Amino acid sequence: ATPMSVMVGTGRGARAGVLIRDAEALERFAKVDTLIVDKTGTLTEGKPALTDVIAQGVTRDRLLTLAAALERGSEHPLAEAIVTGAGEVPKLVPEAFEAVTGQGVRARVEGARVAFGNAALMAEEGADIAALTETAERLQSEGKTAMFLSVDGQAAGIVAVADRIKETTPQAIRDLQAEGLRIVMATGDSPRTAQAVARQLGLADVRAGVSPEGKVAILNELKAQGASVAMAGDGVNDAPALASADVGIAMGTGADVALESAGLTLVKGDLTGILRARRLAEAVMRNIR
Ligand code: ADP
Ligand code: MG
Repeated sequence: ATPMSVMVGTGRGARAGVLIRDAEALERFAKVDTLIVDKTGTLTEGKPALTDVIAQGVTRDRLLTLAAALERGSEHPLAEAIVTGAGEVPKLVPEAFEAVTGQGVRARVEGARVAFGNAALMAEEGADIAALTETAERLQSEGKTAMFLSVDGQAAGIVAVADRIKETTPQAIRDLQAEGLRIVMATGDSPRTAQAVARQLGLADVRAGVSPEGKVAILNELKAQGASVAMAGDGVNDAPALASADVGIAMGTGADVALESAGLTLVKGDLTGILRARRLAEAVMRNIR
């Protein structure tokens, strides 16, 4: 790579909202054939809003009060949706608050052990969610994220949120596919929710219920098959995968850790920037050869 063309490319990138860490990142990106994308905050807005509340054995207000009490302590994008969506509920103060990465939150509230999160968290709490499963599945088929609340190991209901697909995502996906990139969606969200979103975007390859380490494992699996892999994500969850990808792409709107792990940073944080970066990388590499 001639330093001159890389410099020109880097400058053009910056003006187009793509920050390129170094010449190697640009060079490697021209060779990438597979793109792993996180769902929440990458394909979607990352600003979920509360849509459904289904209480079981408690009032709707009590369910929202407890969920909000826990989520005030969390920095997860889902947490803000719950706190905002709960509205004017009593502000109970949780004790022994614990964030369970990729599962939810847990604390003691008014002496009770309260947990809020996914089915795996409910299993850990010993809470039987059988009576809520059908409802959860219906919500997930609509692309919503359904979270369960348990009180002292008893399932007390579901709160669901929906996160809109970014306006630019569908076209960007089609363009990236037309560039010959294989796109794989990886998300911590449930399989049904992930499938519902993937269907809307025409994505066939979906990995759901994936932990941060799981995203690294998917990356390594694809690399072992001979793929050259870029990973796009925004969250703290995505940082390990961004760091171990051939090219890590941070959506600029996300967490600082994501930015530190990335070879490319998209200032505007939508997939259109990946397409621009890809065309730029190819143009620069053509000039060099
Ligand atoms: P993503 O990859 O979509 O950003 P995460 O790995 O952060 O998702 O979380 C996976 C799942 O764990 C979420 O879909 C949700 O069900 C549950 N979860 C995680 N954090 C929270 C939280 N603060 N409150 C409720 N549920 C949570
Ligand atoms: Mg995310």
